[in-house]
Amino acid sequence: MANLHLPHNYIDIIEEEVSKILEICFIEYPPVDAFLVAEKLNYEIGIDEELKTRGYKRRRWGKDGIIVNSPSKSERKHFTIAHEIAEHRLASHATGGFAGVDKLTGEDLEKACNAMASSLLMPAQWFEMDAKTHNFDLLELKKIYSTASHEAIAYRMLRFSECIITIFDNGKATVRKSSINNLHLGEHIHPLEMKCFQKVSDSGEPFTVSGDNVRVQGWPVFKLAKRIGESASYFGGNDWKRVILRTEMDTA
Ligand SMILES: [Zn+2]
Repeated sequence: MANLHLPHNYIDIIEEEVSKILEICFIEYPPVDAFLVAEKLNYEIGIDEELKTRGYKRRRWGKDGIIVNSPSKSERKHFTIAHEIAEHRLASHATGGFAGVDKLTGEDLEKACNAMASSLLMPAQWFEMDAKTHNFDLLELKKIYSTASHEAIAYRMLRFSECIITIFDNGKATVRKSSINNLHLGEHIHPLEMKCFQKVSDSGEPFTVSGDNVRVQGWPVFKLAKRIGESASYFGGNDWKRVILRTEMDTA
């Protein structure tokens, strides 16, 4: 079969599919518990502590299942479960054709499943309004969408506003994603972004700065080894400092 790619409107189709799932599950407001959604959709969740990957879906004895590597309900686990729910749903779609695509495979499938996981934990129908009401304040949104990670919430903002999301890990910019149409804008880190990053990094407090047709919001997502006890080894026992920036540019 020829290489089939996702149609340009696949996100819209995914958001609609998520709406249906929420209705079936009687979920009427955030946060969305992916474990609960899986249970209501009648997927069995299994634990395999030897598992090297985050999770996978399976079908055994006529029952659909999702296998994860631990029973903990971290944001990462919610995302993994949501991703596997998406694999089940999109696979069943595939028989009738998902978004005009006969069968999703490989990268396309992963991309669609990640988009659907993000949508499921932060449904468009609520997230867009909450984000605008709270002026895209990451920490406020985290209180509402508590089953999604700070990082996932920041990326979700790209769908509902023209902005750039930059992630700094331990002082280094590791990810930079933009939803601004004009591509060359924001290619390089702006001096005000550097200033905002420095301020947040040093103070451990949120900071906002604007000027020069640019507005930058910054938030600390720090894991301090001495405060997280048993998880310290996960970060090598060292402090781990993530700073997330959201940048708006006046493109007029
Ligand atoms: Zn997958």
